[in-house]
Amino acid sequence: MIRAELVVGDLAEVATLAEGPVPRSAASMAEVAALQGAALAIDAGRVVWLGPERRLRREVRLRAGGRRLSGDGGTAVPGFVDAHSHVLFAGDRADELPLKAAGASYAEIARQGGGLLSTVRATRRATDRELLEQTTARLERMAASGTTAVEVKSGYALEHAGELRLLRLVRTLARRTGLRLVPTYLGAHAVPPEFRGRADAYVREIVRRTLPEVAGRRLARYCDVFCEPGFFSVRQAERILVAAARLGLGLKIHADEFVASGGARLAARLGATSADHLLAAGAGDRRRLARAGVTAVVLPLTAFASSSRRSPARELVDAGAPVALGTDCSPNTWVEEMPGVLAAAVHAGRLTPAEALTAATVNAAHAVGLEDAGTIEVGRPADVAVFPLRSASELGYRFDARPSLILRQGKPISRRNSVSMFK
Ligand code: FE
Repeated sequence: MIRAELVVGDLAEVATLAEGPVPRSAASMAEVAALQGAALAIDAGRVVWLGPERRLRREVRLRAGGRRLSGDGGTAVPGFVDAHSHVLFAGDRADELPLKAAGASYAEIARQGGGLLSTVRATRRATDRELLEQTTARLERMAASGTTAVEVKSGYALEHAGELRLLRLVRTLARRTGLRLVPTYLGAHAVPPEFRGRADAYVREIVRRTLPEVAGRRLARYCDVFCEPGFFSVRQAERILVAAARLGLGLKIHADEFVASGGARLAARLGATSADHLLAAGAGDRRRLARAGVTAVVLPLTAFASSSRRSPARELVDAGAPVALGTDCSPNTWVEEMPGVLAAAVHAGRLTPAEALTAATVNAAHAVGLEDAGTIEVGRPADVAVFPLRSASELGYRFDARPSLILRQGKPISRRNSVSMFK
């Protein structure tokens, strides 16, 4: 008999995402491994039993003081993994919207000293307490939408001590929120004002000074570079990423977002964990990513908010690349909630709902190195979101679906006042 401190029953469906290769590509992107009429048992934060509800009483015994929760006929999916975020920042850029509406591009706004550099000024000025308060609020809203793990990039300090401070704050945020946070060092987000016109000198500072300290103090798991004309060239990105790999960090690249400039090709050549954005990447780039097994992180609401291009999710799946999803939450594209990202991946990126769910769970977990996340499986942390939907196939269809019950490492966070979406 299996002992559990928590049982969740009355589930119409559990999409476990537990079958198939990791990461998933091509036809296996649609493998969500859904069980009908299933129940879950949890002990010490982990899933200890999963199966048809009729077998639950025979096979699982609730510990003294244990709880039984009802899924109210809804659908359980793995907690979402947000594979790409810049959620740690101060201030906002609401005042840029009229410029954007008038047709100014991200790069143009940046050249005028607005955009990213205005967030850098606000973030440098902010106290730890201000940064923690503002970011905790965003992470808590992410969590309320069913997200249980988030990749968090630095990149709004753009100087040695400030970048280290941001990465340290990620640890504090993880403790405060109970979310699994994966820190990524993105010192090469833009050339800071102090190094204007001297990008190579800034790259040298990153390689010689900041990266060794980031790796030595284990402040980040990944290193990312914004590889784009006007930001960092392919040659500069390569210099940073090769140094990061030598120090044991995983590699990510903001690649080919505005123009095809070789970022995806570099990701394939270096065997990066992921290449992200890819709005301008060509068919050859997509095939290279597929051959190299680089996960393509697609950010469909950024495509919608700051470019006239459509998210290339379908084309990437068809090319055979593993695809993952993220919010890209930043002051430029302030998106916190993954259900809307899934819906955009389906409606604009032309993924099927099953492919979008794979991209937001098991593939996103792989893209951030959380190999025990993104599935509902015996022995793994119980990170689960229960939606008031009949089937996981309605995620991606219902833009603003909200979970009625969330389990974070086995701890239930109930949202009983959430409205039923069955009708
Ligand atoms: Fe980004």
